[in-house]
Amino acid sequence: MTLTGSCLCGSVTVSADALPRLQACHCSMCRKWVGGPFMAVPCTGAVFEGPVKRYRSSDGFERGFCAECGSSLFFHPQGSDLHGIPYGLFDAQPDLPFKAEFFIDQKPACYAFSDDTRKMTGEEFATKFRSG
Ligand SMILES: [Zn+2]
Ligand SMILES: [Zn+2]
Repeated sequence: MTLTGSCLCGSVTVSADALPRLQACHCSMCRKWVGGPFMAVPCTGAVFEGPVKRYRSSDGFERGFCAECGSSLFFHPQGSDLHGIPYGLFDAQPDLPFKAEFFIDQKPACYAFSDDTRKMTGEEFATKFRSG
């Protein structure tokens, strides 16, 4: 499904073809980046317009944010068509099934989602990612 959205200040807009699911990442980098679990919708064909700044957060991966307001815009494996886009950016907050949690081994103990998700450790996530 095609979803549209924008950052907090509205300077950056996005249109993307969303895979209809919601996933969370508990890794320490995402936590620094968004302040808590990164709730993302995996998307292809994402088009961002506006003042997008890119930050290479680790080898082969970059994250985007709005140069004006700092809103997190995407997590992106470089060279792929995949963008993990924060759920909160989308204008219509679609009722997507919450499917998966990544880096469950890095989740702080003081909170947990009660939804029945597929939980992967960082190692399991990396293995899945390497094998496609
Ligand atoms: Zn902005
Ligand atoms: Zn993460």
